[in-house]
Amino acid sequence: MARILFTNVMIFEGTQEKLQPGEVLVQGNRIAAVAGPGESLPREGCEVIDAGGATLMPGMVNTHCHLTYNNGTTVAELTALPVEEHVLLSMHNAKLALDMGFTAALGAASAKPRLDIVIRNEINKGKIPGPRLLAGSPELTVTGGLADDNKLEVKHPSISIICDGAEEFRKTVRMLIREGCDVIKFNNSGDSFCFPRMAAYDNPMTEEEVAAVCNTTNNIGKRLAAHAHADSSVRQCMKYDVEFIFHATFATDETIEQLEKVKHKHWVSPAIAARYNTTHEAADWGITTDVAEMIGNKRELEMGIQTMTKMRKAGIRVLPFGDYGFAWLPHGTEARDLEHFVNLFGYQPWEVLRAATAWGGEAWAGRSGEKMGRVAPGYLADILLVDGNPLLDLSLLQDRNAILAIMKDGSFHKPFAGRAAAMAVAAE
Ligand SMILES: [Zn+2]
Repeated sequence: MARILFTNVMIFEGTQEKLQPGEVLVQGNRIAAVAGPGESLPREGCEVIDAGGATLMPGMVNTHCHLTYNNGTTVAELTALPVEEHVLLSMHNAKLALDMGFTAALGAASAKPRLDIVIRNEINKGKIPGPRLLAGSPELTVTGGLADDNKLEVKHPSISIICDGAEEFRKTVRMLIREGCDVIKFNNSGDSFCFPRMAAYDNPMTEEEVAAVCNTTNNIGKRLAAHAHADSSVRQCMKYDVEFIFHATFATDETIEQLEKVKHKHWVSPAIAARYNTTHEAADWGITTDVAEMIGNKRELEMGIQTMTKMRKAGIRVLPFGDYGFAWLPHGTEARDLEHFVNLFGYQPWEVLRAATAWGGEAWAGRSGEKMGRVAPGYLADILLVDGNPLLDLSLLQDRNAILAIMKDGSFHKPFAGRAAAMAVAAE
């Protein structure tokens, strides 16, 4: 079994506030040993990589990933391309995710039903590069819900499957699980992205429909995620054991209090870039801040900031990343979320990196109990080497040149070729 020993590294373990100098031994696809300050590990039989003081950290985990979104400008446009091109686009996005340091991703809705599935299968076979992937279903939505952009006699391409009534939801969930989905995603709230049909604080799904989706999925042992801006949506997520609560924007203080009591059962993913970037950075695509205010996006941003700040204080586990794949929050820029968490919600840099790695790994693994997202013995060897200290400068993780090496499952996707500073000296 291959043994790779990283020496001369500063380790971000995944759950600790500071970097520690040390050494890390990878054997096969797992971390076999970690040496702390002043300790060293045996060199015999190892390929030794002197990282020159670079930071060694766990690979990041995107727990709200739409690999198949095409950087479009509207929800309807996200899937407006033929399936052949769409497979290739998804394949390129999977590679880009890994290139940017994401070694695992949870499909938070696939633009066409089988896209996430085939990409996951090819990654698992080692035929294409990409993160460990849990395949998401399309958005399950009711008639007129988020991602049903049809008009009578004018059909639109859609990232959703439209279901009405418990029976249709049940049947669709079973069909998607038959096809190979790992994660069933449903929309029990509106959104500014479907203005003026339905606001984010409104919930179009009946109790029976939500129960049908959740009971069917949970009984088969698959994962659940909900597009849940509205207070009643978050309540339904708690009632029906929806593990991944996306957005949670309009959760009231009382709901946050309830969620705090069951916080070990849920992960909250605000996907705040779809609010921040849309409100402040989408003018080139016609969405000025005034337009964002008119459609309700700015309010979602403001409420989201308040709610996530309260959730942070309540110790509820809030995860970064999510909803990248629009024109103004394109694939490859996901790590910007780390700064959003610090600047908007008040997290410390180490806390958001913990959420991006150790918590993300725990969330991805779920009940499988797989050890992911930390630099500790027994954990999967999903590792990054970073040129500098990301706790002092989170933007390093947005720069592919600063991500010096990427290892997934004990194999290098990007081998270490030295630090930029060291390389500059060598060139002189
Ligand atoms: Zn999403």
